[in-house]
Amino acid sequence: MPSIQAFRQKVINRGYYLSAHAEEEMWADALERTDVERAILNGRMNCEFCSGETASKKVRKHHWLRGKLYVVENVDAEVCGECGERYYHARTLDAIDKLLQGDHEVKESLEVEVVSL
Ligand SMILES: [Zn+2]
Repeated sequence: MPSIQAFRQKVINRGYYLSAHAEEEMWADALERTDVERAILNGRMNCEFCSGETASKKVRKHHWLRGKLYVVENVDAEVCGECGERYYHARTLDAIDKLLQGDHEVKESLEVEVVSL
């Protein structure tokens, strides 16, 4: 079964973005999802869910790494102007992993409640 790392490398090599949705699904089933790969076309892209146009923004991202949840600020994303879906470049996701795995400054620690309906 391909690792998320290997999948991301493949995505990086092709210059693709991953949707936030796809990231979550990958964590859920750890399967290779070529159907969620999206090419960048002339620096612009359209949302895979609603076809709306995306814009480059800095966002605050919830990021899971090795069973631990992080909140990462100042993350580059393409954000759909219609539905708000976020797309992250595989290179960006890789950079976040590298940052978290090395020595890094912690701005703040939060307590997170996990609840169920
Ligand atoms: Zn959209």
